[in-house]
Amino acid sequence: MIDEKLQPVLDQVLQRNPGEPEFHQAVREVLESLGRVIAKRPDYLNHALIERICEPERQIIFRVPWVDDQGQVQINRGFRVQFNSALGPYKGGLRFHPSVNVGIIKFLGFEQTFKNALTGMPIGGGKGGSDFNPRGRSDGEVMRFCQSFMTELYRHIGEYTDVPAGDIGVGAREIGYMFGQYKRLTNRYEAGVLTGKALFYGGSRARTEATGYGNAYFLQAMLATKGQSFDGRKVVVSGSGNVAVYSVEKVQSFGGKVIAVSDSSGYVVDEGGVDLELLKEIKEVRRGRVSDYVQLVGAGGRAHFVEAGTGSIWDVPCDVAMPSATQNELTGKDARTLVTNGVLAVGEGANMPSTPEAIRIFQEAGVMFAPGKAANAGGVATSALEMQQNASRDSWSFEQTEGRLSKIMHTIHDTCASTAEEYGAPGDYVLGANIAGFVRVAEAMRALGVI
Ligand code: GLU
Repeated sequence: MIDEKLQPVLDQVLQRNPGEPEFHQAVREVLESLGRVIAKRPDYLNHALIERICEPERQIIFRVPWVDDQGQVQINRGFRVQFNSALGPYKGGLRFHPSVNVGIIKFLGFEQTFKNALTGMPIGGGKGGSDFNPRGRSDGEVMRFCQSFMTELYRHIGEYTDVPAGDIGVGAREIGYMFGQYKRLTNRYEAGVLTGKALFYGGSRARTEATGYGNAYFLQAMLATKGQSFDGRKVVVSGSGNVAVYSVEKVQSFGGKVIAVSDSSGYVVDEGGVDLELLKEIKEVRRGRVSDYVQLVGAGGRAHFVEAGTGSIWDVPCDVAMPSATQNELTGKDARTLVTNGVLAVGEGANMPSTPEAIRIFQEAGVMFAPGKAANAGGVATSALEMQQNASRDSWSFEQTEGRLSKIMHTIHDTCASTAEEYGAPGDYVLGANIAGFVRVAEAMRALGVI
């Protein structure tokens, strides 16, 4: 339910941003949490502060022409939504996926603003990307696309302005091509303009692992509040990108047993426990599909594959669910199945992977639920650590960087938990994350005046 004083804010967002359901969904969720804030602090209603938080500071949309391997000219659309810079330079990833449109980028930029605030690091919120589909494209095509994309984007970014990174479809390869083009266009070796770089030219140790590891740390802290742990628990991780792979790695090191992973082609179940090295080989080296896993793992058919559309990965009974694929992948129906199967905790590795109905079902059933803007904040937090290393021309050890990440995740957990308690909803991490993130951004915005 949304507070009646905030309904006009939502109405304006709906009216001003037609046809952008994901953005509406993200805004609605935050506004629903803010009722409790304005009851305590009606001054937050002044100066259109909440209206301003819902309106991106700047939105850039541009043409990205490039030539494919057949010599044909291709056209994609590029985006950068610079949502909020009250706490620091805009910060957030770039997503290359055919589903990308301005509404998707806006929802991601909005979420990023609060997520980044929760990390406690000096970073604002932004997001970008393109409807370019890297799947099936050669290295040369990906490079030419990235160069063309950066030829427009470079004028809008900078280490003190806006610092993009990766997201779906954008990893170290794409960041490398974009950094190369930025360097060439500006004639500056400005390492801190992008994060998620490879280690040999200014990347941070533990950045690749950070989002997945961070979600596992967050869940570990949340489970501990009920005297529970990962040890001996069955875990299902959707997705098989960077976030999923390194969630599997950390969960396994905590003694959990990951029994299923997925991609857009379907999901694989391995009751013996997912073979992490094989999964990495398939996804990171071969750029293949999870369906390849069944054959490659061998061992007398210990694993099986279920094709997309014929079932849901959430039908696999588990104690902990880590949706780490994409937005709205876990529906109300999935949540009911998980609850029936006795799920204990859910940690969102992706951005907004659970539908609002799914979240409601988890919370009503007393399932511990960690929302993405808190649970997956480890990635961007480690990006901020990469910026720190670049600014000081330093490079930290894996142990030092991971140590900082672990501390940050435990602090985010404790902040969400204590904020939920302070606002009369103990255990509601959605409320805790939304309010704690909002208050930080709002206080900074207020201090900076009406801008
Ligand atoms: N795309 C990631 C996220 O959703 C990381 C962004 C970054 O490192 O800037 O938080």
